[in-house]
Amino acid sequence: MASEKLREKEKFNMWWQEPVTKLKGIGPKKALEFENINVVTIGDLLNHFPRQGCYLDYSHVKTIDELTTDGSMQLFRGSIVRLNNRRSMRNMKYATITVGDGTGFAEIVLFGAQTYMTRVYHTGDEVFVIGKVGLGRTAKSVTAASLSHVKDEKAEAPGILPTYALSGSLTQNNVRSAVRQALALARKELPECLPAPLLRAKHFLPRLEALENIHFPKSQELLEKARQRFIFEELFFLQCGLLHHRVEIKRDSRGIKMARSGKLVDRVRSQLGFALTDSQKKAWQEIDDDMQSPEPMNRLVQGDVGSGKTALAMLALAKAVENGYQGCLMAPTEILAEQHYQEMQKVLEPAGIRTALLTGGLTAKRRREVLEGLADGSIQAVVGTYALIQDAVVFHSLALAITDEQHRFGVAQRAKLQDKSQYAPHVLIMTATPIPRTLALTVYGDLDVSLMKGMPPGRKPVQTLCYTEEKRAAVYKGLIHQVQEGHQAYVVCPLIEESEGVDARAASDLYDELTHGYLKGIPCGLLHGRLKPEEKDAVMESFARNETKVLITTTVVEVGVNVPNATLMIIEGADRFGLAQMHQLRGRVGRGSAQSYCVLLTSSTNPVTLERLQIMRNCSDGFLLAEKDLELRGAGQFFGLRQHGLSDLYIADILRDTDTLVEARKAAQWAMNDPQIAREVEQAAATTQFDGRFERIFNA
Ligand code: ADP
Ligand code: MG
Repeated sequence: MASEKLREKEKFNMWWQEPVTKLKGIGPKKALEFENINVVTIGDLLNHFPRQGCYLDYSHVKTIDELTTDGSMQLFRGSIVRLNNRRSMRNMKYATITVGDGTGFAEIVLFGAQTYMTRVYHTGDEVFVIGKVGLGRTAKSVTAASLSHVKDEKAEAPGILPTYALSGSLTQNNVRSAVRQALALARKELPECLPAPLLRAKHFLPRLEALENIHFPKSQELLEKARQRFIFEELFFLQCGLLHHRVEIKRDSRGIKMARSGKLVDRVRSQLGFALTDSQKKAWQEIDDDMQSPEPMNRLVQGDVGSGKTALAMLALAKAVENGYQGCLMAPTEILAEQHYQEMQKVLEPAGIRTALLTGGLTAKRRREVLEGLADGSIQAVVGTYALIQDAVVFHSLALAITDEQHRFGVAQRAKLQDKSQYAPHVLIMTATPIPRTLALTVYGDLDVSLMKGMPPGRKPVQTLCYTEEKRAAVYKGLIHQVQEGHQAYVVCPLIEESEGVDARAASDLYDELTHGYLKGIPCGLLHGRLKPEEKDAVMESFARNETKVLITTTVVEVGVNVPNATLMIIEGADRFGLAQMHQLRGRVGRGSAQSYCVLLTSSTNPVTLERLQIMRNCSDGFLLAEKDLELRGAGQFFGLRQHGLSDLYIADILRDTDTLVEARKAAQWAMNDPQIAREVEQAAATTQFDGRFERIFNA
């Protein structure tokens, strides 16, 4: 019966790594129920904190005259004055127990348990009662009650009781009893995991006390202190892990120190055809410095759509080539790779740099040529899709790896790249996804960040409008008007779910509807993730050449695509999209000199939804929109931490605990700067943490 996961855990030997079946009352069947709430080991159980606010406060024993009839569960104490077994009019058996305490009487009604009750309880017994209180005829009536004997005169109230997330037939008492046993084990042996100086300076509860109070709080104050400690602890280990990762990268001795930029970089710079903006200059300075350092670069360039990140990539590639190495640029889609390739041909080739494109769409012959060129070094700069880091690709001397949009070099990809090179390549990541500052600390804590503010000159802001369904005909009339003026348009179809297949079908349906309806007679193209690379290229090329006037598309068009003649974007079902995502989409228009428009169409009449869409009208700052998304939809919605190889947080909430996050970051910097403490922390992550997830971050 024991599951795969369970058996795997049986190999370990610290008590918190033992399966919960070691506890009394948990057999294989119960263990499966625990597994459903992600509790496999005793450590998992101790990490299964009650959610905030999910405690029953029985710390105060009321007198009977203090009991209120507000429907809440309350605790009081008294002695039994009468016990009765009864039958209701429908012949249901029940028992009543009347309790008095000198301030009044309460009648406790117990269904289906009368013989048991009258065996265990007797008149004159002192009892604690927890239950819901109502008004009775002669006494207060108590339902949903549980009783327990007052064992001795000094007996205390049950205190504050946790309520846990449950599954199947698990009861609160099952989990509480299991947690009590686990806490008893912890009392015998529980190593501290926070560095002692930190514990002292921050006045945190010791680990054991914190653990006891997060489950069975002795008071509300201690519960709060326990929470504070665990929130800090979680964020502290996360930050230490990220800093550790960062230090490891910097320490890699196979980094390449490049020379100051010279003629080739200058030539490419003049080949760009424009002067760099101030923020491009600043970002380039930072990249240039990084590449001239023996430590491998690990930098993120964050700049809004259209802020001009590609130019930075071209300069960095030129610098790698100038120093006798190869550079690669990885794009998330073939279309984007194609566009970058065109830019390379325009900017790098004339400066004498040999470039190539590597995508899945190449012919076998061309692909072989490119692979050979990369292996013998005759190709100096290459752009491609994910195909670039596949096994067949071998570089002669790769010194720079750039990724554009979406992708982030995870640890595994970095390792793969390094296998392709005898060096530790400089890594540059370019993204238009605006990560709010607080999230950036968590997600990009191991990267240096260059922020690009502002836009290249001569850009007209896109005018954004929001309409409900009944204006749909008028909106498409507007589209036809734009086409008659010689312009082009995008129609983005509603986001159905995170599935290419479903989205592709939705896009095809919309295409059929529009080409037979509003857009009859107008050349339209259809773009979605299920098309073959050649098909996608054909669609895009036809749109870029202004042969198709309207591109009906899924979000695959989100990143990077550049057709300056497109002046209108209609987003259907706009309520389905995140603000930041719509902002990315909107970045596809407004790339030329004509005034551009973005129309958000929605069938929703929900005022909250409409208000959210209105934000798009007045705001063209991607960062601000991302912050709003975060506020409105929560961090999980906005950005899966898991996507970045970080596990979800147990107790900390990045939005709520921002201050603690900043504190934890500072503490982590202090800890990782002290070799002795850094070692301790790393050790603690590997040995004392119940679930080992921080160990994974350290070893990543
Ligand atoms: P993104 O940051 O979204 O990748 P791109 O690099 O594609 O932006 O740049 C958007 C457009 O702006 C391109 O057409 C590019 O040629 C142009 N551009 C970039 N930098 C400048 C600049 N300094 N001056 C004028 N135009 C620029
Ligand atoms: Mg770009």
